[in-house]
Amino acid sequence: MKNYTIAIHGGAGTLLKENMTTEKENAYKQALDTSIDAAVEILESGGSAIEAVTIAVKSMEDSPLFNAGKGSVFTAQGTHEMDAAIMDGKDLNAGAVSLITGIKNPVDLARDVMEHSEHVFLAGDGAMEFAKSRDYQLEDADYFFDQLRYDQWQEIKGSDSFQLDHSVKKDSKFGTVGAVAMDQNGNLAAATSTGGMTNKKWGRIGDSPMIGAGNYANNDTCAVSCTGSGEYFIRGVVAYEVSALMEFKNMSLEDAAHEVIQKRILKLGGDGGLIAVDAKGNITLPFNTAGMYRAFAGAKLQKTISIYSDQD
Ligand code: ASP
Repeated sequence: MKNYTIAIHGGAGTLLKENMTTEKENAYKQALDTSIDAAVEILESGGSAIEAVTIAVKSMEDSPLFNAGKGSVFTAQGTHEMDAAIMDGKDLNAGAVSLITGIKNPVDLARDVMEHSEHVFLAGDGAMEFAKSRDYQLEDADYFFDQLRYDQWQEIKGSDSFQLDHSVKKDSKFGTVGAVAMDQNGNLAAATSTGGMTNKKWGRIGDSPMIGAGNYANNDTCAVSCTGSGEYFIRGVVAYEVSALMEFKNMSLEDAAHEVIQKRILKLGGDGGLIAVDAKGNITLPFNTAGMYRAFAGAKLQKTISIYSDQD
């Protein structure tokens, strides 16, 4: 019997039902539904895990609801600097971009770095030159304008603070998007894309484009995509840590991910979550925040879309 699995996230954080309108909740669920359906179509017809995670992330990058692509937050200069990464568990091939502007789908550029360059990680002007050499068309600033993101930036513009995709600091919410998949051949892949933090400066880069921190895939263990306070996820090498606990401590996917999200990263002071799939198609979606926009589906798994910590 054929087997495949896909899981996606649209960020974790202080997502409380009482702060949400039904309309907004439905809009998020619809966006997650569209993304996961696109990936299922690929996997169901025998497509690769890499293709499935690319399609799923692109779909969320095209939505203004998430902090990636179109919905990216404002930097201190009032621009948008985006980061993305993709990794193929079959051969540990990977591609990543950081500090890019005007690119509609950063995950496409990360994949092009993986497939059409000798490198793994390109940043800033160089990454933009590479995009030009691949004939990318640039979107103008209007495409990335969103009133909510603008208002979030206005609140802290000119100050030294930066924040994670929400206007109230302690009410933090991370809007990064990601996808992990196992295809019918048992290959794993992970992709992650983000606009980073509101009012970020000095070329700040989070965990999302860093292979092993916010994104990792290895057919021998698992594929992982993270969302949360990037600085902590970098220091905890979170995505690779899940894989390492499986490889070197023989932990199950669920136990390894639980250990990292509920113990190790919390101990460091980091909050957020991750989605992960192993080579058998098992999935886990742990988070230590109030909620995480998430969905999963598979040949043997019924499609499920959730936001809050208790199943809704
Ligand atoms: N991890 C991302 C970063 O630090 C933020 C997020 O998950 O929304 O850039």
